[in-house]
Amino acid sequence: MTTVIQPGQIEPPAGEIPFIHQPDSAFRDKTVRLRQLAEGHVMKGFLLFMADLTDAQHAALTVFPEAALPTEAELMLCREHGMPPLSVQSWPRDPVWQEALRQIIAQVICTATPETKIILMRLQQMDSAALEAFATDILSGQFDGMELGAAPFVAAALQVYWTHMASTLGTQAFAPSDISNLCPVCASPPAASIVRIGGSENGLRYLCCSVCNTQWHMVRVKCTNCESTKGISYFMIEGASGAVKAEACEECGTYLKIMHMDKDPQVDPVADDLATLVLDLMMDENGRSRSGPNLFLISPSAIAA
Ligand SMILES: [Zn+2]
Ligand SMILES: [Zn+2]
Repeated sequence: MTTVIQPGQIEPPAGEIPFIHQPDSAFRDKTVRLRQLAEGHVMKGFLLFMADLTDAQHAALTVFPEAALPTEAELMLCREHGMPPLSVQSWPRDPVWQEALRQIIAQVICTATPETKIILMRLQQMDSAALEAFATDILSGQFDGMELGAAPFVAAALQVYWTHMASTLGTQAFAPSDISNLCPVCASPPAASIVRIGGSENGLRYLCCSVCNTQWHMVRVKCTNCESTKGISYFMIEGASGAVKAEACEECGTYLKIMHMDKDPQVDPVADDLATLVLDLMMDENGRSRSGPNLFLISPSAIAA
């Protein structure tokens, strides 16, 4: 017999839930996890290069220059109105993120394949205005006509910039957003969701931002795209540990991966997503489309890196 869990039933009262979680060292965690997952994996070369990329992100974050932030008055207004203060659509982006891009390229170019080196050198030659236009396309999900092989590197630098701002402000700067399936910090869609373990977050599900690394609370067994609580089902790769599943919704026909820390405490929303592409292929064959992006994998050409 199966026990049916209703949304909200297994959660403590709303006031006691830490609604936001900021990982201490998001990029470093990804590097460690990617190197671990690469061992014996059919996509070993790709995963190891992605580990180099997240390692470069960590290095760029450590020396990130001072950047403009919202004032306390602006933050308060956003909290009162349930608006993400660092929205990727409306926040006046500081071109300083391009400094992080230059650093990331300089670091990863050493281990890149010849094809990727050409892409990186082309990126190095783009002027500031072209890079800003590229960034706008990525952050607004306009992937058509984009140089897809270059997108993960531009996205990586934008992630460093937004992660820097989010962690500098700290969790107390933010409040739940009116649109619960977008990041309350930067209004981006989630890359995946994660069921956390430990302390007051034990057993709670958080959505993981595809840009700023913020994790925000959402009850379980609920579609993260259309918020339907009916027709939710779970798919996993046969013989896998169950740490990564696809949470699919019948109402809107989409899915998003859900990671379970109780099955594997090291599971990571980005790293484990990249290592389970076969699950995406399976869902695609089932006619389901993915509701949130992994910005390292906008294109098939990125897989070949
Ligand atoms: Zn975010
Ligand atoms: Zn749905």
